[in-house]
Amino acid sequence: MQTNLLGLDLDGLGHWLALQGEKPFRAKQLAPWLHQRGVTDFDAMTDMAKSLRALLAQHACVQALPVRSRQDSADGTIKWLFDVGNGDAVEAVFIPEDDRATLCISSQAGCAVGCRFCSTGHQGFSRNLSTAEIVAQLWYVEHQLRRERGVSERIISNVVFMGMGEPLQNYDAVLPALRLMLSDHGYGLSRRRVTVSTSGVVPCMQRLASDCPVALAVSLHAPDDALRDTLVPLNRKYPLAELMVACRQYVKHAPRDFVTFEYCMLDQVNDTPEHARALVQLMQRGAGRGLYAKFNLIPFNPFADSGLRASSREAVLAFARVLTAAGLVTTVRKTRGDDIDAACGQLAGEVNDRTGITQRLARRDGAVRLSK
Ligand code: SAH
Ligand code: SF4
Repeated sequence: MQTNLLGLDLDGLGHWLALQGEKPFRAKQLAPWLHQRGVTDFDAMTDMAKSLRALLAQHACVQALPVRSRQDSADGTIKWLFDVGNGDAVEAVFIPEDDRATLCISSQAGCAVGCRFCSTGHQGFSRNLSTAEIVAQLWYVEHQLRRERGVSERIISNVVFMGMGEPLQNYDAVLPALRLMLSDHGYGLSRRRVTVSTSGVVPCMQRLASDCPVALAVSLHAPDDALRDTLVPLNRKYPLAELMVACRQYVKHAPRDFVTFEYCMLDQVNDTPEHARALVQLMQRGAGRGLYAKFNLIPFNPFADSGLRASSREAVLAFARVLTAAGLVTTVRKTRGDDIDAACGQLAGEVNDRTGITQRLARRDGAVRLSK
């Protein structure tokens, strides 16, 4: 069987080469061909010995994910649906901005956390993605866009794990992917330009802090345990007090001196001035005191059968004002790619829920409707 080299970080590549009787340091020669130049034909890797190229051709491959669909938004956002087999599909979204270009990637087909406001959560969990499947999203989009645009310099400047899945529940596959993103021989991104977003898997936040402390976003969504229990079921296992301790620990290792708290604004559920005041209380006198956090208010992107509504613009701004007045740094996230349902939280792909009945994506106008 051929090994997909996209699934190996530098150490992994070195070990693999050693197993083939090659010098492990060749990994530093091979990885840039794969990740920085996007070359899949081993014969084109001209600075490597012919014998090594022959060995690679026999035992290795560079296997991207089949693209099931692509949608281009009027604002430049592009969404791909990748086939990961067995009826499962995952999404990646490219979001260009003035000073950066961010790729939002998936870490699992479905998600087992089951947040109430998230369509991935509603679909259930199918399986973890492999390192190769995670890296393939970045590899493909980067090199595809370079080809289309006829450029050779890097396009994607930031990566966020905010697509489908809970990255910290797929830790063993996510870690080598992160290492490859940061490696000078891989994608060469700085730690502050790679963000893991988590619903709060406390033990893995601690592991990440010591293994590979990239930027961290924590999906908070509620100022107290009673409400958070109902929105993010994982809160019952790791309640706010524990989550805040883990955040404080993380900040000591983080590339910036803060964590970002994401807060999805749900009409009358978590968006009233009382909720905002409770949040200030939590951060200034409760479990979050002493923790430097920035708040990112995300407009809820509705999907069928969620039973939830988006907060009004006024409610979002009023909520933001309460936080800001108390000195908490707060931004309201712009939605991007609305016309192709690529906005945050609308990613769903298609998942065979192995934990229950198979759920299919709703289809609209014959096109795949992606709703997270
Ligand atoms: N599982 C991780 C990362 C993927 S979700 C996490 O929960 O953090 C990425 C972000 O999208 C999270 O902040 C999540 O709360 C948000 N999100 C999920 N569904 C949403 C929706 N319908 N509208 C807006 N944001 C949503
Ligand atoms: Fe999973 Fe994140 Fe969606 Fe919650 S918000 S169900 S953790 S993907």
